[in-house]
Amino acid sequence: MSELRFDQVSVRFGTGHRAITAVDGVDLTVPSGQVVGLVGESGSGKSTLARTAVGLTAPSSGRILLDGVPIDHRARKLQMVFQDPYSSLDPRMTIGDTIAEAVPRGAGRPGVAAGRSRRAEVGRLLDLVGLDAARADAYPGALSGGQRQRVAIARALAGQPDVIIADEITSALDVSVQGTMLNLVRSLQRELHLSMLFISHNLAVVRYVSDLIAVMYLGRIVEVGPADQVLNNPQHDYTRELLAAVPRRETSYSRRTSA
Ligand code: ADP
Ligand code: MG
Repeated sequence: MSELRFDQVSVRFGTGHRAITAVDGVDLTVPSGQVVGLVGESGSGKSTLARTAVGLTAPSSGRILLDGVPIDHRARKLQMVFQDPYSSLDPRMTIGDTIAEAVPRGAGRPGVAAGRSRRAEVGRLLDLVGLDAARADAYPGALSGGQRQRVAIARALAGQPDVIIADEITSALDVSVQGTMLNLVRSLQRELHLSMLFISHNLAVVRYVSDLIAVMYLGRIVEVGPADQVLNNPQHDYTRELLAAVPRRETSYSRRTSA
C-alpha cells in the first residue's frame, strides 16, 4: 500500500501562441488503499496527468510523490492499464508469455525451478482476474475485449505494484461487459489493498468504484471529496452538469452482467 500524490503538477504542450496547458497546477492525493475516481470530459487532461505518474509524459513543473518521495519509475511500483485492450497486447505473444514477461525474477515459491514457478505465477494471475489458467497458451486474437482487458490487468498486477492507474479501462468494452469489469476491479483492489486512480469520462462508471471523486475541468481539479459528498452535494457547477448528464438507469451498474 502506498500513497500517490500529485504536487502542483502542470503539463504544457507546444510553444508560443500554440501552447496549451493540458494539466494546470494539479494537487491530488490517492490515499493508501483507496480508490480515487477522476472524472471529466474528453480533453480535460486526465490521461496526461496519469501519464506523468508512470513517466510517459514529463511534467513541465511540479512533483509526483509515492509515500512522500519523488517517484522512481524504474521501481515499477505503479502500473497503468489503458483504454484499448486491442492495441495494448502484442498479437504475436501468447497471453501467458505476455504476463510472464512482467513477472519479476525470483517470484514464486522458493525451492521451485524458476521456469515452473513463473508458469505457476502466470496461472495464479490468470485465476485472479477470472480467466482459466489453461488459456495461457492462447493468443490475444482468440480473446474478447473483456478477456483482453483482464489479461492487461493481470500483466499490471504481475509486478506486485502498490498503485494502479486505470485509464478509461471500460470505455472500449461492450456495455454488457462493463459492469463485470468494474466488479473485478473493485474486488481486486480490496483483496490486494491497492491504491488506485480510476479515470473515466463517465461519472456513472466512476461512482461505482470510487471512495473519493475528483472532478477535472480544463486541466484543473475543480472539486474533490468523498464520493457520497461529491455526488449528493456537489459544490461546482461543472460537477452538477456531469451529474445531470448521467441517465437514471445508468446510475448503478447491475452485478449480474457476464463477461
Ligand atoms: P483526457 O484524457 O481528459 O481526454 P488528455 O490528457 O488526453 O485529456 O488531453 C488533454 C489536452 O492535452 C487535450 O487538449 C489534448 O489535445 C492535449 N494533448 C494531449 N497529449 C498531447 C500531446 N502529446 N501533444 C499535444 N497536445 C496533447
Ligand atoms: Mg484520456
